[in-house]
Amino acid sequence: MFNRTMQSLGETRSAIRELYEYGRARKREIGEENVFDFSIGNPNVPAPACVEEAALRCFREISPETLHAYTSAAGLDEVRRAVAAHLSVRSGLECSERFVYMTCGASASLAIALSAILNAGEEVIVPAPYFPEYRIFTEQAGGKLVPVPVKRDFHLDPDAVARAVTEKTKAVLVNSPNNPTGAVYTQEEMRALGAALREKSASRGAPIWLLADEPYREICYGVPPVSPFTVYENTMILYSFSKSLSLAGERIGYIALSPQCANAEALFSAICGAGRSHGYVCAPALFQRVAASCLGRSADIERYRANRDLLYGALADMGYRCAVPEGAFYLFAEALEPDAEAFCRRAQARELLLVPSDSFGVKGYVRISYCVARETIERSLPAFRALIGEYRK
Ligand code: PLP
Repeated sequence: MFNRTMQSLGETRSAIRELYEYGRARKREIGEENVFDFSIGNPNVPAPACVEEAALRCFREISPETLHAYTSAAGLDEVRRAVAAHLSVRSGLECSERFVYMTCGASASLAIALSAILNAGEEVIVPAPYFPEYRIFTEQAGGKLVPVPVKRDFHLDPDAVARAVTEKTKAVLVNSPNNPTGAVYTQEEMRALGAALREKSASRGAPIWLLADEPYREICYGVPPVSPFTVYENTMILYSFSKSLSLAGERIGYIALSPQCANAEALFSAICGAGRSHGYVCAPALFQRVAASCLGRSADIERYRANRDLLYGALADMGYRCAVPEGAFYLFAEALEPDAEAFCRRAQARELLLVPSDSFGVKGYVRISYCVARETIERSLPAFRALIGEYRK
């Protein structure tokens, strides 16, 4: 007999992956151009030139036996130093490489950070809708995910988060720019959250950790997101280069602790221990070096902005109800019937692959990933028009 939890996790693919695999098969059947696959958040804009330049430089300048060797478990010293220097500029605080841990992307950052802090039964508050894997990582670490609704405009509701705090709350996990809503939390919202967590932590005599999952940090169409280190001291940044540099398949990211966080040494030891226990030591060596050379850079996000403008404008004109995405590359629209899964089945019959919101922890919406070729959006518009027409009959 195998581990039942793991077997069932393996047997139930995520709704997003399920749809993505369906899309691949369907494209083989009826032709790529006839399927409008808005399922997965796989960046379609090429990685910036600095990625190739840095990789080639590594191949030219570093001997193979050094380049491909194991690094320290937490990552290469010079890479951790570069990340700390980058975060220092961004936050205005003096960040230390001693509290930077290189990871295999944001998924690993999340799994490690949650395992490092959670004891059995402790709670993690997350604004809903939320990235579905949060539940898996939290429960695997023995914790309990506590979703708290965002406001109607998908922005953070710091008062609602504060009301959800119990004596078991260990962390609040936020994601801005947000998947699936595209919201970018304002400085005021983040400051209010920081103030609430400071007050709750003080009254309990133990910190509540703020985990800031930031893989879309650079993909922002308005005011850039505030550095989470500047709003609250007990903060960890969970970062990934998957989306900003279009390196999703290379599996590279990091965890960084605020220099102001309590018990930073012990916490960092717990992070190292969690990385070890998950087998997530020594992130890919070549891409540690590449990432360090490209900090703060991003793929051409103007292409995502153009897609956003085209898709949002067209859907709003047709009568779909959705908020303008402020960042990331997702549009979260109201389904045209209460059952989002039923709505997505009707969309699928028109070859539109949309993700129902149920797996993001809310009902009645669909997520539309617009990191696709512009032509895919253009060609899909008649299908969106016909779909809303069905509901108006
Ligand atoms: N967090 C959020 C909000 C995401 O959207 C994703 C991926 O889509 C991840 C984490 C995982 O990213 P990575 O590819 O770096 O593991």
